[in-house]
Amino acid sequence: MKIAANDPNRKSWLPVKEGSDFPIQNIPFGVFITKDDIITIGTRIGEYAIDLGAFHQLGYFKGIPLTDDIFMQDSLNDFIADGRKTWRLVRKRISEIFDIENPTLRENDKHKEVIIFDINEVEMLMPVDVGDYTDFYTSIEHAENIGKIFNGQTHSLSSNWLHMPVGYPSRSSSVVVSGTSIRRPYGQVLPYGSEKPVLAPSESVDMELELAFITTAVNDLGKRISIDEAEENIFGMVLLNDWSARDIQKWELDPLGPFLGKNFATTISPWIVTLDALEPFRCKSPKQELDPLPYLKQNTANNSFDIKLEAKLKTENGDLNDLSKTNFKYLYWTIQQQLAHHTVNGCNVRAGDLMGSGTISGSTSDSYGSMLEITWNGNEPITLKDGTSRSFLNDGDEVIIRGYCENSKVRIGFGKCTGKIAPAIALK
Ligand code: CA
Repeated sequence: MKIAANDPNRKSWLPVKEGSDFPIQNIPFGVFITKDDIITIGTRIGEYAIDLGAFHQLGYFKGIPLTDDIFMQDSLNDFIADGRKTWRLVRKRISEIFDIENPTLRENDKHKEVIIFDINEVEMLMPVDVGDYTDFYTSIEHAENIGKIFNGQTHSLSSNWLHMPVGYPSRSSSVVVSGTSIRRPYGQVLPYGSEKPVLAPSESVDMELELAFITTAVNDLGKRISIDEAEENIFGMVLLNDWSARDIQKWELDPLGPFLGKNFATTISPWIVTLDALEPFRCKSPKQELDPLPYLKQNTANNSFDIKLEAKLKTENGDLNDLSKTNFKYLYWTIQQQLAHHTVNGCNVRAGDLMGSGTISGSTSDSYGSMLEITWNGNEPITLKDGTSRSFLNDGDEVIIRGYCENSKVRIGFGKCTGKIAPAIALK
């Protein structure tokens, strides 16, 4: 399908450096605050943030059915609820107005002054008000590694894993935007060889390299959507780091699963890259070993996206250390399958809901998406450039996740998803 805003030959009159994540073909959506304390919904081209509230007020969306204040809000939820038809019209219009051939805004200095900001002069905020956050577990490599680490089995998948995209409801209250510092959590942990737990700061704070999709209002309570309808209900994707305290997680896990070890913080990147912008990067998902039940069966060809991902660890002296290079396309269960599964029981999914993929690991150790796997639960610590070693994250360590798609004509990126570990708050 041809999406007008994706024309790879289009150039913008706003300068875009080679290798930028944000060419005119991207047109992601985010929320930012200006130096004058104005909060607005915006988009980004190159190193410029574009105030869509002002853009709309000045008449540039004329003819598109939008309420007057749709972009003058502190979250994208209402715009996302407007649906795919509207998202497409809006992206198309933005790409036309910023087209190098179009003088309308290009030659209007007064308008440019209120619409366009240097990206360094705005602060990015949470793009959506996340009502619910579900975290899936869709990487077969990750699931097998976790099974081997904790159960020592060769065939380590749980018996349900090949039949459905396993997931769990996590917390939305602690989802934060990139750049927010992450406080080392306290929790109950069971010291090695002990039978009694203690309350202590986690000694195994980890990252989880994930992507997440953000939905529109999908279904009413009690209703479900089919797998063929799933995609039109997905607005876009963000990078996600699902911070995890492995020692807390290990002790609390039985019998109900993740809780405090996982819900102290989750970081997302600020720009939502639309599924439409990712369209040129569609690719096959891995062949599924077992035929899934009919409600999870996809008859379309390219249900995944070729999104290159990397995680780096930045130490306090500024060194950047490679942690992982992986790809979204390795995931066994697709986003369409995740959403169809999520609603099959009638659970209602709303605009602005966040669905994490789960840790994205590849088949080699340099493509593992968590420290737990990279250091094999601390048994094989990594040595950093400054000579120190890590099993998990130290205070002051910053994790930087990036993601992008690229072909011979265009690069569509997500920018950065970062967070730095702050020391635990001591008990009184
Ligand atoms: Ca996770």
